[in-house]
Amino acid sequence: MLRTLNQAGELRDKRVLLRCDFNVPLDGEVVTDDGRIRAALPTIHRLTNQGAKVIILSHLGRPDGKPDQKYSLKPVANRLGELLGQPVAFATQTVGSEASSAVQALEAGSVLVLENLRFNQGEASKETSERIEFAAQLAQMGDLLVSDGFGVVHRKQASVYELAKTVSSYAGLLIQAELEVLDQLTENPVRPYTVVLGGSKVSDKLGVIDSLLPKVDRLLIGGGMLFTFLAAQGHRVGKSLLESDQIETVRSYIAKASELGVELVLPVDVVVANEFAADAEHEVVAASEIEGGRFGSDGIGLDIGPETSRVFAESISSSKTVFWNGPMGVFEFEKFSNGTRAVAEALTKVSGISVVGGGDSAAAVRSLGFSENSFSHISTGGGASLEFLEGKSLPGLEVLND
Ligand code: ADP
Ligand code: MG
Repeated sequence: MLRTLNQAGELRDKRVLLRCDFNVPLDGEVVTDDGRIRAALPTIHRLTNQGAKVIILSHLGRPDGKPDQKYSLKPVANRLGELLGQPVAFATQTVGSEASSAVQALEAGSVLVLENLRFNQGEASKETSERIEFAAQLAQMGDLLVSDGFGVVHRKQASVYELAKTVSSYAGLLIQAELEVLDQLTENPVRPYTVVLGGSKVSDKLGVIDSLLPKVDRLLIGGGMLFTFLAAQGHRVGKSLLESDQIETVRSYIAKASELGVELVLPVDVVVANEFAADAEHEVVAASEIEGGRFGSDGIGLDIGPETSRVFAESISSSKTVFWNGPMGVFEFEKFSNGTRAVAEALTKVSGISVVGGGDSAAAVRSLGFSENSFSHISTGGGASLEFLEGKSLPGLEVLND
């Protein structure tokens, strides 16, 4: 059983380390999508209302184990202050004398954000001993841990795993809410059950296909990984994202899907551009003819085509359970956002459960103007929710279980 906040006892004047996932997109010092910050508010309110001293831990980006100002959490602390309507203190270190003084200065019901965990080598180190050492330093800063960074529970990192073993630790309200929805997707999902995959982290996501195939009725493939599928079918893909070393593996997925009777739906057309840019020239070509288009072998596939969007939308909106992770194209460029918009639109029409997972996917639906209420749930975790659906054990959750 997951240990939850209800079991944490009296919190007045306690120093509560709150692990959040505030890995949000930034444009300079402006948070461009604050969904993950808003998702943490219920837990923060609960803690401050109980008179706890809230010390927030998070990572942002991949700063490589040392300070790098472009990944500072300062803009996040500012945004959090605005959302909470109360001042939020910020320490320019995660651990060390300045961080400790900031903690000492905290009063009951106040909030402090410590600088990016990943400015410290120990946080994401491959060496267990380094992670344990960093977790011990973090443990000094608080009396207990509330773990609420759902987006990182699949990572065995110091603040997610070793710290939770070192001090009393409990799951926060966001993790509880996320698990409630994901349980509905894994325990007898109402069928047809459709999973839509896209995005850019091709090798991360190709692996999940193998474990999802036996569980789903339909699997729709868009985004960067679609080109490895096209290559597996013998097509040339120009300069599109491609993982040549995965082509054989992908062939075996295609075979497995047909053995299992799973509908594996691949794009029939693609939007191909002459360069990776917002104002690139572009055209729609058949998925099998990418290099036969205007840009020849220089063409880059940046979105699924309109016919594919129609097919995907039909497949999605006629399903009873849908999980979607990963944009269908480079939605950050208006011209290449149509596939992602079509899929999002179709999810809003599902009569049943529709779940969007992943930082960029969540940001995409918001930036395309969809209301959060149009979906059953927008998960704050991409990788974490996929691994949960695959049935993997997630270290950051295991460690919160009795
Ligand atoms: P999430 O955060 O939702 O899990 P990912 O991080 O895997 O999603 O992928 C998001 C990124 O995928 C977006 O920045 C988008 O531009 C990129 N992407 C989608 N399709 C393509 C493509 N065809 N080529 C290159 N990048 C793509
Ligand atoms: Mg992402």
